[in-house]
Amino acid sequence: MAAADPLAVYPLGSAFDEEGRLLLGGCRATDLAREHGTPAYVVVEDDLRAQARAYREAFDRHAPGSHVSFASKANPCTAVLRVLEQEGLGCDVASGGELALALHAGFAPDRIHVHGNAKSEAELAAAVEAGVRHVVLDGLDEIERLARVAAERGRVQPVLLRITPDVRGDTHDGISTGQAESKFGFGMDDARVALDRVRGHAGLRLDGLHFHVGSQLLELDVFRRAVRAVAPLMDGLGELNLGGGLGVAYTADQVAQLPSVDAYVREKVAAVRDLLGDRVRIGDEPGRSLVGRAGVTLYTVQTVKRNVVTWVGVDGGMADNLRPMLYGARYEAQIADRFAPRTAADGTLVPGAHARVTGKHCESSDVVVADALLDAPRAGDVLVTPVTGAYGYAMSNTYNGVPRPPVVFVGGGRSRVVVRRERVDELWARDVD
Ligand SMILES: *Cc1c(COP(=O)(O)O)cnc(C)c1O
Repeated sequence: MAAADPLAVYPLGSAFDEEGRLLLGGCRATDLAREHGTPAYVVVEDDLRAQARAYREAFDRHAPGSHVSFASKANPCTAVLRVLEQEGLGCDVASGGELALALHAGFAPDRIHVHGNAKSEAELAAAVEAGVRHVVLDGLDEIERLARVAAERGRVQPVLLRITPDVRGDTHDGISTGQAESKFGFGMDDARVALDRVRGHAGLRLDGLHFHVGSQLLELDVFRRAVRAVAPLMDGLGELNLGGGLGVAYTADQVAQLPSVDAYVREKVAAVRDLLGDRVRIGDEPGRSLVGRAGVTLYTVQTVKRNVVTWVGVDGGMADNLRPMLYGARYEAQIADRFAPRTAADGTLVPGAHARVTGKHCESSDVVVADALLDAPRAGDVLVTPVTGAYGYAMSNTYNGVPRPPVVFVGGGRSRVVVRRERVDELWARDVD
């Protein structure tokens, strides 16, 4: 079954040169691997900007005045944040560290939202002192704590209340957040108590509500169900933040299922307008769908082994992409200079053969791509996995003493390192004798 478009899930502008070698942002993938080493995260800047613009334009079309924030946990690196800041987005953070990073990248505090189900007092203080647009309250304990932190500093802190709407989207349990037993947000009963308590504090200004039902969602009806669920609590409130959640197509077979950004925005806006009227201001917090497709990972094949299956061992794995392990996430992979299936120069079809791409880490579950169709992989080949721009770099770690890969931006035939590769001596940089 040949995919109609071999580059269907690759970043915008990806192409092949005359010899069938993959080009990313006008750069040959094999050249990028040689120049920057592997594994490497490659980000196509044009794709990043195009997705940001798609969001901004869709909201300007369907609900002008809405604000769109990047959920920074999806790709928390300065260069990515800077691009999205330049494109006019706000920023969502979920810890003191992410707050510091967002400020470092240049986000104005009044474009930052602070999330977290277990924020510390120090994190609340940092948010208040920075003057963030919203602290999104997540539990009853936090209300009193934030009120005190704000009062001690003579500030009035604008807040949203995160509600658990008790709806479930069709996604993996690990990234579903809107169900009643979620650790996030206020259940519907607690929400009423919380609303009263927040209104009783002079140091808190209640602007509205927030929900985030989950991630990697390919169906849009869940958002209307969520808006319907929280609507009874919206009485008199001016703002509703609908979280993020739009999925990306990781594999070619998911492309047809994936709603466009415009369809996603249209559906969310329509749900709010139908159920809450024209006056409610809308917020949205895309993560994965902003950055996922812009990124690919380059690896070098180290070994090919055949037993029951063909194993292709690469120089990265679960330390640079935890998602297959965490969620059984499926990816595609290709040899960067000879995609399969393809028609060779002499007109014959090169079908490719099934292979399991595995990482170098000491775990059997260190799978990169469980089932890839590859053209005769051999040691030294550059292997590319698309759609690693979200939650890859973000969750990278140094398991097995593997330094974290660089992030390389590409565009217009040029590349530049925006995060350098970690050095081996940084593995013990924090060790004390
Ligand atoms: C993770 C998260 C998002 C972004 O989710 P995506 O599925 O990546 O779009 C938005 N809001 C909150 C509160 C989140 O925790």
